[in-house]
Amino acid sequence: MMHIECECGNRTELFATGDRDEQGREFIELEDDDRFSFAIGEDSIVFKCGFCGYRYRLKRYE
Ligand SMILES: [Zn+2]
Repeated sequence: MMHIECECGNRTELFATGDRDEQGREFIELEDDDRFSFAIGEDSIVFKCGFCGYRYRLKRYE
């Protein structure tokens, strides 16, 4: 489905869990949370590479 890949070559997939919320949006999860972790902040999500420690910030736009 989707994947996230770091500059260092570390990558993992995001997979659909099959669970949906009341608006029909399906939940997704990281396939391997040893490879990447993420933190949800007020206006962004930060993904952190578990190999090299590099962090990527996804900002919220509305
Ligand atoms: Zn990395």
